Amino acid sequence: MDFKEKIRVIQDFPQPGIRFKDITTLLKDGKAYKAAIDSMIEQLKGKEIDLIVGPEARGFVVAAPLATALGVGFVPVRKKGKLPAETIEESYGLEYGKDVLAIHKDAIQPGQKVLIADDLLATGGTIGATMNLVQKLQGEVVGAAFLIELTYLQGREKLKGLDIISLVKY
Ligand code: IMP
Repeated sequence: MDFKEKIRVIQDFPQPGIRFKDITTLLKDGKAYKAAIDSMIEQLKGKEIDLIVGPEARGFVVAAPLATALGVGFVPVRKKGKLPAETIEESYGLEYGKDVLAIHKDAIQPGQKVLIADDLLATGGTIGATMNLVQKLQGEVVGAAFLIELTYLQGREKLKGLDIISLVKY
């Protein structure tokens, strides 16, 4: 399936100069959404994974279906102040802005093999911060999976050594 044709590009959102990749057009197409998750699962074959961690909010719509397909747990990473139990935090820079991410302290057991999943890899800031959170809890990050990779922002280079899969590249 041509997943790129299912993704809508919005010029100047949320700021002038940004060409925002809008995955809602892919998500509302049930066949395309399922095919995208199936195709990611195919690329992850043979990988040992105990848990999938996804940053809010669009990361949830990738990480959660991957987790149920593999029969492993899902752990949310959220913006500071949103998770109810005890958390650890990590600040990070975005393609547009800055923020603080948090994870529940008891979400990962030491040595668990963790795949990080998100909708889109841009500069790698979000995933770098998510990796730091997982590693602080002594999880082992075994890879990262994305629907979309903006190759011109070179997030992959920033995340050197990390095993990365992505479905659609711009
Ligand atoms: P990074 O931290 O620079 O890699 O940016 C990736 C994060 O920003 C992801 O969590 C995305 O949800 C969000 N993001 C950045 N650009 C876009 C876009 O064009 N479409 C959708 N999300 C985006």
